[in-house]
Amino acid sequence: MDRPRVLSSSVTTSIYTCTSQDIRDQHNSDSRKKFHNIFETPKIPASLRLTCTMTDKVFQLSGSCNNYPWGKQGRKSLAAQLKVRTDKDFEIKDDEYYSELWFGDYPDFPARVLETGELLKDVLDKNKEALLGKKVISELGGQLPFLPKILSIAKALPLQIHPNKGLAAELHASDPENFTDPNHKPEIAVALSEFEVFAGFKPLNKISPLFNLPALHPFVPANTTHWTDSTLREVVRNLLKADEVDIHGIIKVLTQTRHEIFVDIDAVYILDLLPRLQEQYGPHDAGILVALTCMNFMTLHPGEAIYIPADGIHAYLSGNIVECMARSNNVLNSGFCPPADRNSIDMFADTLTFGAHSVEDVMLRNQRSGRSKEGRTVVYKPPMSEFDMLKTSLKGGEWDLIAPGEGPGVMIVTQGKGKMRASSDGGEKEFELSEGFIFFVAPGVGVKLETEAGMQVHMAVL
Ligand SMILES: [Zn+2]
Repeated sequence: MDRPRVLSSSVTTSIYTCTSQDIRDQHNSDSRKKFHNIFETPKIPASLRLTCTMTDKVFQLSGSCNNYPWGKQGRKSLAAQLKVRTDKDFEIKDDEYYSELWFGDYPDFPARVLETGELLKDVLDKNKEALLGKKVISELGGQLPFLPKILSIAKALPLQIHPNKGLAAELHASDPENFTDPNHKPEIAVALSEFEVFAGFKPLNKISPLFNLPALHPFVPANTTHWTDSTLREVVRNLLKADEVDIHGIIKVLTQTRHEIFVDIDAVYILDLLPRLQEQYGPHDAGILVALTCMNFMTLHPGEAIYIPADGIHAYLSGNIVECMARSNNVLNSGFCPPADRNSIDMFADTLTFGAHSVEDVMLRNQRSGRSKEGRTVVYKPPMSEFDMLKTSLKGGEWDLIAPGEGPGVMIVTQGKGKMRASSDGGEKEFELSEGFIFFVAPGVGVKLETEAGMQVHMAVL
């Protein structure tokens, strides 16, 4: 039941699978015979001949789970629950952490074609023109330009930034083992449940009053009369470099600070979160102070999303999300992790960017997708070119048609079940959809999604 059952298939125009071998084959005489009749068929424009069949353009994938200790355990993890829907051999263990389900072609936790077990990357490499499209080949490195994931978060992920392209290239050249690609990694996170997150910085006028407290004032550069982003950069640097004993002492003082002081600067959440974060990473972790005093704390509801630019500070705290990022795995960590996992504090502080200075700066609002026929698909459009994220929400009996895109798409059914009818010049084909099912959709393929029972689908697209 886990495999997609082909409900019907009507390959109407061009017939042949276009593996690169086929394209080579058409030049030898035997194959010419094989193609002869097809090419004689009337009404097929030359431009459509030798396009792929729908089987090659839309196919089901199986993602890879990983087991970082911040993930939810056992069946509580959505990543594990979705993974098991397409992998019968995958066994969920009660005491194991299941943090992420990756379903891109990145080598660390790669997706495979469900039917054959082939790596998605190998399939894409064999037929870039049809599966990735011209724009990806000419402008985006000829690989899947994005990396989609499901995250199931039980406790704070490391306080982190993802370095910009220049720094990423330098780090990759000098330390390829830890920085496994030269790319930047801006990312978006779309909430599937309540999602707690620290992201970007608060307005300076909400940060600076906290640092008038005697325990925190020593972290402000001497002679500061007026806070700027440079002041904030040095404050973050000083906090991260603070002695562990000092951090513990400051956390104690904050815990005992009068409630009203936090009310005045909209920061009562600090008192709620202090014990929780201490329990997660101990009372010596400087990440606690940076996150609570300097960063926006948000609780997102399902469907709300944030955008984290390159060099943007963030730490996800709890919840289930769909995440999508540029094709990279580079990260600089500075807190909410063991000291051995932290990168250079100076590099972290020097790289920080200050574009986000409020909750509003971090939120990524969705809008109706121009590719949606019925208006039941919204798009999250980060200000970068590697990807957008579509979300289709259907009640029982509803449908939507998503017009073809110029690049590849990778979709995951995040709720419910239904059907997908994919169509292009390669014909039409229907697929069953069910929670956890992941599909690759090639450029030029339109999909009709429909459901009797209700369904939600997220799709990373170019
Ligand atoms: Zn991140």
